Amino acid sequence: MRILLLVAAIVGVFLIVRTLLRSSGKGAPAVPPERVKQQGPVVRCAHCGVHVPHLEAYRAGERVYCSREHALEDARSRDDD
Ligand SMILES: [Zn+2]
Repeated sequence: MRILLLVAAIVGVFLIVRTLLRSSGKGAPAVPPERVKQQGPVVRCAHCGVHVPHLEAYRAGERVYCSREHALEDARSRDDD
């Protein structure tokens, strides 16, 4: 009975160590995709065409801009028409 318990303990430790080694070895490269997911979708500036994360974009009506300056410039240039 003691031998069975000993074998079960050794197998348990072996499985735990193997799981830890696998998770630490392949965990690192998964960082960049998570960053993209956190920033959300990307939108295109209506003035210069630069792509910016949805959360950092500026809005003027239905149009989206990369910066406050481009929102103002675009509004000014559209007033001239
Ligand atoms: Zn822009």
